[in-house]
Amino acid sequence: MSKLVLVPTPIGNLGDITLRAIEVLKQAEMVYCEDTRVTGKLLMHLGISKPLKPLHQNNEHLILEKTLSDISQRSLSVYCSDAGTPAISDPGFMLVRACIEKEIDVECLPGAAAFLPALVLSGLPCERFVFEGFLPQKKGRMTRLQELKEEPRTIIFYESPHRITKMLLQLVEVFGGDRKASLSRELSKKFEETFRGTLTVIAEVSAARELKGEMVVIVSGKER
Ligand code: SAM
Repeated sequence: MSKLVLVPTPIGNLGDITLRAIEVLKQAEMVYCEDTRVTGKLLMHLGISKPLKPLHQNNEHLILEKTLSDISQRSLSVYCSDAGTPAISDPGFMLVRACIEKEIDVECLPGAAAFLPALVLSGLPCERFVFEGFLPQKKGRMTRLQELKEEPRTIIFYESPHRITKMLLQLVEVFGGDRKASLSRELSKKFEETFRGTLTVIAEVSAARELKGEMVVIVSGKER
């Protein structure tokens, strides 16, 4: 019986790898990964030596069929993205979908993902939420925000540090400056911090502090 296991990896703090992740990585016959250097470094830290093969958005179309055939000839293959849970704003989705179509057993271990701690830390309602991930970089960006303007559930965005202030100003423009929000940066790392307030306040903090590092923005849904 062949199986593909998606293994989440730490989003900062190496201590966030799980015992099950280590066990599965030890047992894997092949580890597919977004970047062999990143996953190689993690495996070295864990004292695990495994063959690694790159599988990412630039080659997944080309090597998918061969990868599926190889996976079905082994008992245990693993997929890791660079950080967090594969397929969450990361490669992995195509591989999962193709394995399901080929009736290859797929498992995803629970583990690190940036949006969950950011959502909980926001202090905004988290019974119901929508994960938007990254907004389109150019075309369609403002249209996507307009579509979300009336969304009543808490909204989660990923953003890179060099676009964060611009993004927050766009959120102010579409949702209004009084909408409650939070920004969590460097989760699980030494300089982790979360800012809470209105979108206007958070945009001002971002501009004044020139925030660096990885960030998640949480925006309150529209109050009914
Ligand atoms: N697969 C990852 C996950 O499960 O969350 C997401 C990968 S995506 C390429 C990278 C984005 O996730 C960053 O731009 C940032 O928005 C968010 N992120 C990743 N690590 C983070 C951290 N330590 N603190 C805050 N945000 C983080």
